[in-house]
Amino acid sequence: MAQYKFVLDEKDLPKRWYNVLADMEPPPPPIHPATHEPVGPEALAPLFPMALIQQEVSSDRYLPIPDEVLEVYKLWRPTPLYRAHRLEKALDTTARIYYKYEGVSPAGSHKPNTAVAQAYYNKAEGVKRLTTETGAGQWGSALAMACSFFGIELKVYMVKVSYHQKPYRRVLMETWGASVVPSPSGDTNAGRGVLERDAESPGSLGIAISEAVEDAATRDDTKYSLGSVLNHVLLHQTVVGQEALPQMEMAGDYPDVVIGCVGGGSNYSGLCLPFVRERLVSGKKTRFLAAEPEACPSITRGEYAYDFGDTAETTPLLRMHTLGHSFVPPSIHAGGLRYHGMSPIISKLCADGVMEARAYHQTKVFEAAMRFARTEGIVAAPESAHAIAAVIDEALAAREAGERRVILFNLSGHGHFDLAAYDQYLTGKLEDFAYPVDKVKEAMAGIPKVG
Ligand SMILES: *Cc1c(COP(=O)(O)O)cnc(C)c1O
Repeated sequence: MAQYKFVLDEKDLPKRWYNVLADMEPPPPPIHPATHEPVGPEALAPLFPMALIQQEVSSDRYLPIPDEVLEVYKLWRPTPLYRAHRLEKALDTTARIYYKYEGVSPAGSHKPNTAVAQAYYNKAEGVKRLTTETGAGQWGSALAMACSFFGIELKVYMVKVSYHQKPYRRVLMETWGASVVPSPSGDTNAGRGVLERDAESPGSLGIAISEAVEDAATRDDTKYSLGSVLNHVLLHQTVVGQEALPQMEMAGDYPDVVIGCVGGGSNYSGLCLPFVRERLVSGKKTRFLAAEPEACPSITRGEYAYDFGDTAETTPLLRMHTLGHSFVPPSIHAGGLRYHGMSPIISKLCADGVMEARAYHQTKVFEAAMRFARTEGIVAAPESAHAIAAVIDEALAAREAGERRVILFNLSGHGHFDLAAYDQYLTGKLEDFAYPVDKVKEAMAGIPKVG
């Protein structure tokens, strides 16, 4: 009998996070926008608690997970690893396809892995209130849940187009006790500035970050929390890959290619970094493939350069793949992938040739999602469906080559709050957005010049 599901016991929950910076050549440091000198940890102190700043710059290979965080992880972790027998059969492929399913968390995605850790460290340092941005609403809902566990107030700046497209995510955040406003909002200078230039702005993650950062920086009782991109966020997500390693062993396979979708890079990093370590340290030949939207293709079409993390130019400069911090991506349904930049760690691994990337149009992504739902049953988040599109490409290529390729991917979340997007696809109304060449060119002209 074929085995479909590989599960770990609660006692097998990883007790530490894995820090890839101990094993790779670290990315260039964040620098100050005016002086171009590396910014020290103290520059981040108005925004983040010290424990997270220390994790951000740590070069220790493993960092302990606090007991209070493990207790919350136990609500849904360890998550299952599945073998996609039915999808394999439908594709008539010689490849073996595995997926780690992060949609079993209460918020429906991988994001609580870091939300819980961040809420814990803020609480431990006496923070009363957090601000954040959210795209499609997954990050906001994950943090809202985490804040409710640790008794912290939360204000969420939600990208306006998603606020209107996905009202149920807002209700979810409010159910967990957060207050939510559409961004650009009238509550901050950054938001008011955008609205003056364009009253109809659909918003973007870059704008929402500016608003949340300004709110936190101007209040003593408040800090800011980011759901992707930064080193400490990727660190917290590594529980995913650390579980997947023994689960693949249970399955008697080792991945030839590890795939994930990338917005800021956190879910993919969570799965792949422990496998990247195996390649860097033990000489494994695994390939790493990141899937991104054609409408916002930071890695495949962006430049590896220093740029701001936000639209209002308030953050330090990060060396990353960027389309320009003023770029506002088209309103694709994968709201979580509408970010102009990319995690510095993922960017460096791509620049070093350890990782490759591919971009997909959303109709192809939804075709893949449909195929997955009808074979494996799970209705994937539109973000995760980018990974599925790449998996199908790889499985078909393996069939052509007659290879027994082992594919592992991260199914980062379910799409139960994205059914309006599925409806658009089913009724033939979903449109593809061409890569916005001119808008990117314009945005790239505005990135800082760093020697
Ligand atoms: C937020 C989100 C993403 C994109 O963010 P990453 O940091 O790149 O992981 C992908 N999938 C889901 C389900 C998300 O909620």
